[in-house]
Amino acid sequence: MSIHEECGVFGVYSPTRCHLVETVYYGLYALQHRGQESCGIVINDDGVFAAHKDLGLVEEVFSHELLSGFPEGNISVGHVRYGTTGGTSRNNCQPIEVNHLKGRMALAHNGNLSNAAELRKELELSGAIFHTTSDSETIAYIITRERLRSASIEEALNRAMYTLDGAYSLVLMSPQKMLCCRDPYGFRPLCIGRTKDGKYIAASESCALEAVDAEFIRDVDPGEIIVFGPDGICSITDHCGQKEGSFCIFEYIYFSRPDSVINGVSVHESRLKAGEILAELHPAEADLVIGAPDSGLDAALGYSRRSGIPYGIGLIKNKYIGRTFISPGQQSRVEGVRIKLSAISSAVKGKRIVLVDDSIVRGNTMGRVVNILREAGAKEVHVRISSPPFIHPCYYGTDIDSEENLIACRHTLQEISKITGADSLGYFPPERLSELAPGCGFCSACFGGRYPTPVPADTRKDRYELKLSERTKQFT
Ligand code: SF4
Repeated sequence: MSIHEECGVFGVYSPTRCHLVETVYYGLYALQHRGQESCGIVINDDGVFAAHKDLGLVEEVFSHELLSGFPEGNISVGHVRYGTTGGTSRNNCQPIEVNHLKGRMALAHNGNLSNAAELRKELELSGAIFHTTSDSETIAYIITRERLRSASIEEALNRAMYTLDGAYSLVLMSPQKMLCCRDPYGFRPLCIGRTKDGKYIAASESCALEAVDAEFIRDVDPGEIIVFGPDGICSITDHCGQKEGSFCIFEYIYFSRPDSVINGVSVHESRLKAGEILAELHPAEADLVIGAPDSGLDAALGYSRRSGIPYGIGLIKNKYIGRTFISPGQQSRVEGVRIKLSAISSAVKGKRIVLVDDSIVRGNTMGRVVNILREAGAKEVHVRISSPPFIHPCYYGTDIDSEENLIACRHTLQEISKITGADSLGYFPPERLSELAPGCGFCSACFGGRYPTPVPADTRKDRYELKLSERTKQFT
């Protein structure tokens, strides 16, 4: 419950010119959980792009007045961002727009390149000038470079995919086409759908298709490009060298919305299953099972069903404050939890509670939640976590921290239990992760350290925002 998602991407292609901006607005609204730092929409009106991007939530950035000022068009892409490379600045808002010799392009990216630093250095040494500090601009540069050597945007994207390494689900548009693709590992989700009036949609999650009343068609395959254009739809499945399926297992556990279906598996069902397995392996003598809102609720229900212990609501989340990790300092993080969550005293008082949550990162949030329950009168608090312990950072577009900040790297199970104040603690077993995503190759590197791609040489999120003295060192 304390990890930032990466980003959400959304695109719409209409065979005829019409008012598209509301479709993208609602799509981004449905994907807001994937990124709350900034958002943006670009509309393509016969090759002329109109854009608005800014810091803030979708509802803060796009007023009714602003939306009604957008022109009609037939393609649009949108983005919600939480930056995993590059800081929170207006410059880093997406979609990224590029003007080049053969036209223009707008691109929305979810993920994180693992060879971004090498590619950017190579481009900068050949004279490229970057306007942002995000790895998404590097992707835009590589595609543009290939576009100048290719007959079409899809050929350029296909060629670029041989150069890009790591996690990227992209939605992009040229003057005439919308394209979407997933990296050959398939780290991040991406699916397509169609509205009743014939518009095609590409979105990070199927919940965004439902938000715009579109019917789910299918997931984009790892390594696949799908092109929507005046000549219809086509799929390019030159998989850039077949890679091992590496879908982020944490999308099921935490990132994605429970009403999304990914790789044919309902996120809600996957979380129920996690709770059932936890109940099997880590039973507790208790009176009530509660979930940490929101992402612990489904697994708590699964725990309750399997254990027979009644399920209830014990914690209430204040929906009107930002995520705790947006707070910059340690002290404000702690205060953030206090403001964000409160216990229903009448539900937990005098009871032995099983508290189910999706993860423990640093441990301070969980410690505070256990304390809130105790202050409300809970007799015992047994913590059950629907993921294995985090012991490695993530390089594929999430904010799972460096090892020194991960509590499970520094402490034993018993120590974590003591630090958080829990009466007992049980984690989901790594060897049973495959049951949460049946039939899908997945990445679980943050739990086991087996990274599907080479680990990047420089992993600092702010590596392009360093002081001049530090930056110069990179070139000496
Ligand atoms: Fe997902 Fe963890 Fe792999 Fe990152 S390292 S992609 S969070 S499973």
